[in-house]
Amino acid sequence: MFATLSDRLTSTFKNLRNKGRLSEADIDATVRQIRRALLDADVAVPVVREFTGRVRERALSAEVSGALNPAQQVVKIVNDELISILGGSARPLSFAKVPPTVIMLAGLQGAGKTTLAGKLALHLREQGHTPLLVAADLQRPNAVTQLSVVGERAGVPVYAPHPGVASELEVPTGDPVQVAIDGVAEARAKVHDVVIIDTAGRLGVDGELMAQAADIRAATNPDEVLFVIDAMIGQDAVTTAKAFLDGVDFTGVVLSKLDGDARGGAALSVASVTGRPIMFASTGEQLRDFEAFYPDRMASRILDMGDILTLIEQAEKAFDAEQAASMAKKIVSGDGFTLEDFLVQMQQLRKLGSMKKMLGMLPGMGQMREAIDNFDEREVDRVEAIVRSMTPMERANPKILNGSRKARVARGSGVTPAEVNQLLVRFESAQKMMKHMGKTGGLPGMGGMPG
Ligand code: GDP
Repeated sequence: MFATLSDRLTSTFKNLRNKGRLSEADIDATVRQIRRALLDADVAVPVVREFTGRVRERALSAEVSGALNPAQQVVKIVNDELISILGGSARPLSFAKVPPTVIMLAGLQGAGKTTLAGKLALHLREQGHTPLLVAADLQRPNAVTQLSVVGERAGVPVYAPHPGVASELEVPTGDPVQVAIDGVAEARAKVHDVVIIDTAGRLGVDGELMAQAADIRAATNPDEVLFVIDAMIGQDAVTTAKAFLDGVDFTGVVLSKLDGDARGGAALSVASVTGRPIMFASTGEQLRDFEAFYPDRMASRILDMGDILTLIEQAEKAFDAEQAASMAKKIVSGDGFTLEDFLVQMQQLRKLGSMKKMLGMLPGMGQMREAIDNFDEREVDRVEAIVRSMTPMERANPKILNGSRKARVARGSGVTPAEVNQLLVRFESAQKMMKHMGKTGGLPGMGGMPG
């Protein structure tokens, strides 16, 4: 996610790091590099212009020339402005005073609406809501079946015109507007407090599609209309978003496929172009690949300042709270981070489903991205075997591992002594990173930026 943009921005800042004072020429050069990086990431031209204009103006002001560390102050300004184009603060779902809350999904075909419907349903269910999914996409042959499958996985019931359409090729008949109305009535009757309406999309923006979505909106009066957009479609995202804003209007945006190698500009443009907040991000094909969207956390991720908060939140979701809290504390304080913890952390990360994604959220990982991309999950097994072959004393204090102990551990775990050494080196650097994060508030590589 945003890997290229992230690399370009961080290397721009690296050039500034050793400078005490910044001349106007330094700032102009930096702003030029930022502009290129954003344009290459497919961020819409007007957004880039506004962004770089504000960064330049602030960078030339007393805010920077008077700062103790001007280079860090520039990073902070870019961070602030990124947060601002991403919509400022997070915007949670708003719920109806009198249930059911109606949430309608809109977007092009393939944007990820049906998948999102399941993710959102699971998310709401886990928060104690009792959602009902409504299949009002009667355009795509497979759509009703797909929603039923997704609903089953999420443990959420699905209201469909023809439950269990037998053939994948059979197009369910009926009027999608009526199905949406009936779905909301069903939710009221069965006391579901939230209704999520999945609507049809087309491959491109067309009048009929807009009219149908607008009719469903008018008929069901949703509390939220979420526009789902595929972050991988690049520059087209802005045109599509504007068309939906005019044709249907929406209250919030969901960015899907943020896990792809997309240049990501859609994500950075859509909130400022439409004036609607980004509320959720979809980051994979599985139900759990879903997050609430926090502009500030996304900005830190793009600037490679890591996203400890999301990491901790994901950890909390997957494990019992106590264990997660103690791990979070260790991450933050860097205190007593042992080889056992290192192993537990790796195992937990694997449990979370996508190790690569999680590692990407750790600060300072930008430089290690290549290593992460080549990450082999079997590595966790190897690490486990090695750590398990150590005595408790060795685990607590790896420094006592001399040549003969290492040879014993290597034999016990079926690896070479060199592999044992490699593990110890990696553990030490992880431990150092934890300590550093604890001391500086978590920004290695940035030299302890304020804030
Ligand atoms: P819809 O036509 O808008 O309902 O789109 P679907 O939900 O059917 O999604 C289209 C395709 O994109 C499916 O193959 C999904 O598995 C895939 N997809 C949806 N969301 C994501 C995501 O966040 N990441 C990735 N990698 N794939 C996704």
